[in-house]
Amino acid sequence: MRIVLISTPIGFLGSGKGGGVELTLNSLVSGLISLGHSVEVIAPKKSKLNESNVKAKLHFVEGEDQISWQHQDYNSPASIPDNSLLAGMLEKGIDIAKNADVLVNMSYDWLPIWMTLNIEIPIAHIISMGSESSVISNLISKVYDKYPINFAFHSKMQANDYPFIKNPTIIGNGFNLDNYNFQDSRKGSLAWVGRVAPEKGLEDAVYVANELGEKLKVWGLIEDEIYASRIEKSFPNGTIDWMGFLSTDELQKELGKCRGLLNTPKWNEAYGNVIVEALACGVPVIAYKRGGPSEIIQHGQTGYLANPDDKETLLYYSKIIEKINRKNCREWVEKNASADIFANKVLNWLNKVIIEYK
Ligand code: UDP
Repeated sequence: MRIVLISTPIGFLGSGKGGGVELTLNSLVSGLISLGHSVEVIAPKKSKLNESNVKAKLHFVEGEDQISWQHQDYNSPASIPDNSLLAGMLEKGIDIAKNADVLVNMSYDWLPIWMTLNIEIPIAHIISMGSESSVISNLISKVYDKYPINFAFHSKMQANDYPFIKNPTIIGNGFNLDNYNFQDSRKGSLAWVGRVAPEKGLEDAVYVANELGEKLKVWGLIEDEIYASRIEKSFPNGTIDWMGFLSTDELQKELGKCRGLLNTPKWNEAYGNVIVEALACGVPVIAYKRGGPSEIIQHGQTGYLANPDDKETLLYYSKIIEKINRKNCREWVEKNASADIFANKVLNWLNKVIIEYK
């Protein structure tokens, strides 16, 4: 198959601004290439693909980023800046996809979804977030009426945010597991990984570390400085050990030394890449039962699930996290979330989309 992928219109690949979509796109490219398919990626200028993805052709587009939907009011209108990166990526993607089998859109925005109604080439959308905008949800509902096959979601809980989707296509996610080494380190610190922004609930993980009298190691891009400094000020000095934003290789080396990952989403987390990355290193995860995490973590086997916002239960599970056999964590990922497993699910879905256009 010849597949054209459109990246996120928020940050170049490698900047961290695009959140989980950056790793998801790279993993999908790896999986598709290893299964013998040809892939072209349309992405913002300065984007880099993983070294292992040299066979994929990268096309650069310059322009202004979109504003992330999770940081706008739910009822905000869709906006397109002058010299729009998103519009530029779509123009290029549509042009290249004329000679391809399918165009896959990984940006969560209005314009590419609306295009479904107006182009004749197959366009498939990987929806990367729960419902974060009324204008996008209403548009998905309208397009879904005519093209129900063209949408895929990472988890059932995420798809539930779109109640009009009757039989959602769930593709999960998957990663190149050669990039993650198992480490059997039961005595390390507690970790938290993610974009530092209100929807990620870092404060609840810091609460747990502080109650335990420990430092919390925090990796990720500080997207919201005011939020980060507010959390820092509300706990004793030094409770947060800021570790910065690392490449996958550096991150997995450090994360693997930790005894557990805390994952504390305040929104309906679509999937939660960092959970699977931790498990791949043998690190069990304690998370809120909200969105994707509740479908990934096997309670009592690969970590623990607490009711949403129940910090005391997070704390309790943090005290008994050593009970989890770290090998279970790696095994679950190998059986359920490798790049090839993910790419195969995506291919099954894309085949159905393509047939619809014949
Ligand atoms: N990440 C990274 N380096 C870091 C911290 C995070 O590359 O130091 C990446 C991580 O690999 C993951 C992404 O940031 O792919 C966060 O994705 P997730 O699905 O957890 O949340 P999102 O940001 O999409 O809401």
